[in-house]
Amino acid sequence: MEAPVPNLDWHRVQAVDHRSVLEGEVRWSPSLSLWFTANATVALVGGVLLFRWSALLLFIVATGIVLLFGHSLGSHRKLIHDSFQCPQWLEYTLVYLGVQVGLAGPIGLLKQHELRDYAQRLPDCHPFLRHGRGFWTDAWWQLHCELKLSNPPPIRVEEAIASNRFYRLLERTWMWQQLPIAVIFYAWGGWSFVVYGVCARVTAGVFGHWLIGYFAHNHGPMHHEVRGAAVQGHNVPWTSLLTMGECWHNNHHAFPASARLGLKRNEWDPGWWTLMALRKVGLAWSLRLPEDLAYRPELVALPATTSRRFARMIEAMQVLTRPAIHSGTELVWPGRTLGLEGMRRLLGHEVRATLDRSASRLSLRTTSGKSLVGLPALFVAVLNHRGAWARLAAFLMVPAAVAFECAFRHEPAR
Ligand SMILES: [Zn+2]
Ligand SMILES: [Zn+2]
Repeated sequence: MEAPVPNLDWHRVQAVDHRSVLEGEVRWSPSLSLWFTANATVALVGGVLLFRWSALLLFIVATGIVLLFGHSLGSHRKLIHDSFQCPQWLEYTLVYLGVQVGLAGPIGLLKQHELRDYAQRLPDCHPFLRHGRGFWTDAWWQLHCELKLSNPPPIRVEEAIASNRFYRLLERTWMWQQLPIAVIFYAWGGWSFVVYGVCARVTAGVFGHWLIGYFAHNHGPMHHEVRGAAVQGHNVPWTSLLTMGECWHNNHHAFPASARLGLKRNEWDPGWWTLMALRKVGLAWSLRLPEDLAYRPELVALPATTSRRFARMIEAMQVLTRPAIHSGTELVWPGRTLGLEGMRRLLGHEVRATLDRSASRLSLRTTSGKSLVGLPALFVAVLNHRGAWARLAAFLMVPAAVAFECAFRHEPAR
């Protein structure tokens, strides 16, 4: 099936030719490479020589603050996506903390994000922009190199950001912004605080940003698919607290302008929790949620994560094959390929079967409401009602039916 063409007219990036995000060269970037290598070396060597528990605590607290308030809230959810509103002074504070992560200046980071975001929505883009090469190549590329596109598309940054004097100052001096913090930490706790509070923090921020970016575009569960996109976002559960909720990247690909990233129960999102606290005290408002965003025809909801879906199906099967339940089960099916007589011939006459034209799929239900759908339901019905050979055949077919159901059944969003 042909994927619907995404509407990207509103995007900050506008390319006349889609090859503009495909053709280019990855080149070693002396400044980025030295920046990361120097910070990492000082963090590793100095970290061993100058270890103190208080410095380690400073590292943990300072890293948490810049990732939560700076990167997640300031740079990403506010400056880039404008997904909530807040007082100007708070926006400046959050963006300043975002610069403290040590990735780039605010305008440079916004441009990098927008180029990736745009390129990833097209049918194809340079592997640099979609983390599309192997783990080690991607590490080298993203931590030490930059992409020089042969014919880069223009990136339109709104005046309020592009000509903002504070943001322009941060843009010119982003590496130097570590210096005032280093001086404060030195006065407070000597070199050990500088190593842990600055170099180790920058190393963790830059390295972690790449690592999560790699996994979030290669491995992990998905709730949605953006059809026709060069790459899909994946959620990276288990890192929700470390990333302040940024790990719900499949959700982010589906609803980029949502202020909330963890959308389901159990999807912890410290960034969202903080925004709700700020809203409570009147410091944040107009928080955007997925339901506030425009409908995207290319967005397809996927069935629940395979493993969870698998567990639910096994549970339903255990209930439905219990001898005491047999007589109480009912088969409901839309009757598109098999009429009532055909179904009776297949399952025997004692099966309770209801032909329901409005049903979307075949399902086997107990009176208490447990149900199983699709091929697994049909095989379990055979298992419940037929003789020994048919039961054996059905029993052997069930695993394949479950695997098929988990892997290939994608239902449309609405
Ligand atoms: Zn992405
Ligand atoms: Zn984003």
